[in-house]
Amino acid sequence: MYSREIKQKQVIIKEGEKGSHMYVSAQGRYEVSVKGKGVVNTFEDIRVFGEMAILYNDKRNATIKAVKPGRVWVLDRTVYQKLMIRFNIKEQDEMLEFLEKVPKLNKVSPEALQKVVNLLKVKYFSPGTTIVKQGERGDKFYIIRAGTVTITKEGEGVVGNYGKGQFFGELALLKEEFRQATVTADAPGGVECLTLKRQHFIAHFGELREDGILTVQTSSSPAKVSKIVKEHQDVELKDLNIVTTLGVGGFGRVELVQHKTQNIIFALKYLKKIDMVEQNQQEHVYNERNIQMDCRSQFIVRLYRSYKDSKYIYFLMESCLGGDLWTLLQRQKTRRFDEKDSRFIAACVLEAFAYLHEKGIVYRDLKPENLLIDEQGYIKLTDFGFAKKLGSRGRTFTFAGTPEYVAPEIILSRGHDKAVDYWAYGIFIFELLTGRTPFRTNDASHMRTYNKILTGIDSVDFPSFVSTKARNVIEKLCKAIPAERLGCQRNGVQDIKNHRWFLGFDWVKLNERRLSAPFKPKLKSNTDTRYFEAFKKDTDYPPDETSGWDVNF
Ligand code: AMP
Repeated sequence: MYSREIKQKQVIIKEGEKGSHMYVSAQGRYEVSVKGKGVVNTFEDIRVFGEMAILYNDKRNATIKAVKPGRVWVLDRTVYQKLMIRFNIKEQDEMLEFLEKVPKLNKVSPEALQKVVNLLKVKYFSPGTTIVKQGERGDKFYIIRAGTVTITKEGEGVVGNYGKGQFFGELALLKEEFRQATVTADAPGGVECLTLKRQHFIAHFGELREDGILTVQTSSSPAKVSKIVKEHQDVELKDLNIVTTLGVGGFGRVELVQHKTQNIIFALKYLKKIDMVEQNQQEHVYNERNIQMDCRSQFIVRLYRSYKDSKYIYFLMESCLGGDLWTLLQRQKTRRFDEKDSRFIAACVLEAFAYLHEKGIVYRDLKPENLLIDEQGYIKLTDFGFAKKLGSRGRTFTFAGTPEYVAPEIILSRGHDKAVDYWAYGIFIFELLTGRTPFRTNDASHMRTYNKILTGIDSVDFPSFVSTKARNVIEKLCKAIPAERLGCQRNGVQDIKNHRWFLGFDWVKLNERRLSAPFKPKLKSNTDTRYFEAFKKDTDYPPDETSGWDVNF
């Protein structure tokens, strides 16, 4: 933080303007006013203000002006976020170090331990607090992070003292044991512990064996190595005729194209390179190309190859002539899908996620706009701009996604992993069933949406037509703590498939394409585009972009 002198009448933050700083008043007297209401408050104590901007980079809700000269401390949003990221990485490393010292856990792979880290909770006990009591049943394990504890046993008195890095209650991970001793937090500072609940531990790792050996099975089995078959590699741009435009996206258009000599059609997406560079999308485009081209799943739109010239990047994709799911949703009389149809759509998406997660890819942009309907009415995921292959840490820190779908840990820069896709999956099921997302607000800025997301799914009103089962699966997917989400535990996506909302759903038939789809498009030919809007011809002729960032396309 840095200090800044404030003059009398100086406006520090202004309502409606974008904010990127947070302040602490050190001296002076300040007036808070809101348009239409006038002065709503004054203060001259030391307090934090403008802190929302640190989280949301959004518009200010009020104006704050100095009544007399003063001084404030200023913290910049980017600095705060860098600190948070550094702090979170450091904190996780420290927790990992602690865990590696615990004998019963030191046979566990670092990847699995990383998962345990995410389950740990920090708890503070003031001096004199009894943390565990001899004879009581225990279901928690404790690691001391700061401070000390005294261990006493009935009849023996004090039998030991533990400090930083030491742990107690580990038998609780093995079975619901009666505590063998009493542990009390010491003066003067009390003790800060990391705690792990047996039931959370078991959900991830299964039962611990009596001999203390942990036979860890996590859901993340190594990705299957299958030979990747490449198709249509010999198709060149000059071999294609444009039939019509299928869609217009943020950076370009998607054309339905036909091969000049063979009876095959494709969707050809082209993006303006100049826009990519101006809006710093180069990395996203590379991600999109590299990840999508590597995917072979019937629930993911195939990307065969890419091209480039001086103005555009092109993607040659399989065409899905049923249109996109967002349009289909809008065309429903009720503006929502019934439970059975929602289940089919959600099942296709779950198979796409299962495939991606097995490959170590997080998708990060689930929403109806990014799902297309193929000729048989099956749903396919597309638009891989935000997708990311996770490295050995298995986490990423960059902000990504559509506001109404982002998980709390993304808003809080906590670092995130595939669990964000399951959060979004819960939001998505809600949207299928109700026609709207649960955290939507009328606020054009996204601050209120983010606030609602952080408040949690429990404060969302579910319409009465949403069944208890559906509500339950959504609530289990939208748990604030990523490690507690359905799909993020030992059994992975299987837990979602086993949820009673999917009871009776035939996953085998789905994968064999033997289930009849609820919205099978009625098409006359392979160039029938009735499920797409009509678009005007592209008249924009962008300038050349020759900086060379696209050398690998
Ligand atoms: P995008 O720029 O990827 O968001 O695409 C814009 C629109 O083009 C989408 O909303 C779809 O309507 C359409 N579209 C994109 N890819 C395909 C495809 N493979 N098959 C059919 N339509 C597509």
